[in-house]
Amino acid sequence: MTKLQPVRGTRDIFGEDIRRFSYVTDAFRRIAGTYGFDEIITPIFEFTDVFKRTLGDTSDVVTKEMYSFEDRSGEMLTLRPEYTAGIARAYMSNGLAQQGVVRLFGYGPMFRYERPQKGRYRQFHQLDAEIIGAAEPMADIELLALAWQLLNDLGIAGDIKLHLNSLGDPESRSAYRAALVDYFSVHEQKLSEDSRVRLHKNPMRILDSKDHGDRTLLADAPRISDYLTTGAKDFFARVCDGVTALGIPFVHDEKLVRGLDYYTHTAFEFITDALGAQGTVLAGGRYDGLMEMMGGTSTPGVGWAAGIERLAMLIAEPDKPRPAIAMIPLGERAEQHALSLVQELRAAGYSTGMDYKGNMKRRLNRAAKSAARFALILGDDELENNVATIRNLDSGTQEEVALDQILAYFSATLTSS
Ligand code: ATP
Ligand code: MG
Repeated sequence: MTKLQPVRGTRDIFGEDIRRFSYVTDAFRRIAGTYGFDEIITPIFEFTDVFKRTLGDTSDVVTKEMYSFEDRSGEMLTLRPEYTAGIARAYMSNGLAQQGVVRLFGYGPMFRYERPQKGRYRQFHQLDAEIIGAAEPMADIELLALAWQLLNDLGIAGDIKLHLNSLGDPESRSAYRAALVDYFSVHEQKLSEDSRVRLHKNPMRILDSKDHGDRTLLADAPRISDYLTTGAKDFFARVCDGVTALGIPFVHDEKLVRGLDYYTHTAFEFITDALGAQGTVLAGGRYDGLMEMMGGTSTPGVGWAAGIERLAMLIAEPDKPRPAIAMIPLGERAEQHALSLVQELRAAGYSTGMDYKGNMKRRLNRAAKSAARFALILGDDELENNVATIRNLDSGTQEEVALDQILAYFSATLTSS
């Protein structure tokens, strides 16, 4: 028998959920437009290498979370677990470098094999914003401004705090990396199994560990700020100054390293207490090494992604849209006439529903349930006299209006949307 359940970690989004979802994506599209970002849609699957090479062999995403498969011609493909690598690939495939600094936004589904729980799914959705081709801290600041405005416009900024850190340039990182190896080598026996592997492959990732023992050791671990080069320090100071000037409250969080290999300089997360363990709603950073890692020309970039489901949970419930008019034709002749009438009303911008069966009382009940403002009733008697009955469903009053005056009637009483 066919299973009638959705796959674990996936869900259908409808009703109030889709209204919340669209409220978030509509706000994002509008705000991204005011910041001069262009929309991009990239494929939902890419060659596995696109993610494997960039996210790093030791990242949780690559080792545990990717949905990878071989297609019928033997290509290794992966359902995208994140946006940035695909956008970077698109930037190179399409020669966008010729356009100078490129500002791109997009949103859509991502796939990760994780343990599903509130705010954590196997198919989830992200908003994404990237600035590619700009090495200046101004780009980081603009992206943070965009993120903050989105959270403000969604009415949720009050509960959210920006955590900001610098991962430095490659020189800072390698000095820090050496210091971490020195420190953790002494404590190797106390590290979790995962972190022992990280110690040899990518020690900075230990800072990301959720293991309790690892976290205890981390309390006395070397701090990246002590290993930043003058250039990296200056870059970070400029980002902090910009964020301060914009009035975005933030904390300098030295534990923040982000799980992916390609970050340099700025790393940030917007975190709330309102969602338990799934508190990070928006996260990102600078990835100057990414394009080169993918085999392209070295190109600076900075970007972020936000979990739409997590944002959707935080916002106030959006209003349910009310249809303007419920058309109620009674009888076949009236139905014929109603067809052209509703087309006219819809073309004028009034959301107009049409009901197909039942007696008058039931139809009026359904119209009221749809929250329509008016019922437009057309029966044989009305047709005979070239009128229709318009019933105000809020007040219960009704009147007859000449058929050729209906549009005028509604444009006087409703504002078209
Ligand atoms: P977490 O620490 O919660 O696993 P992450 O570091 O893996 O997050 P990113 O890769 O930075 O997350 O993705 C950016 C945002 O996407 C997260 O801050 C979160 O809002 C959202 N997100 C990530 N994974 C999921 C998921 N499985 N389900 C729902 N939202 C998610
Ligand atoms: Mg994760």
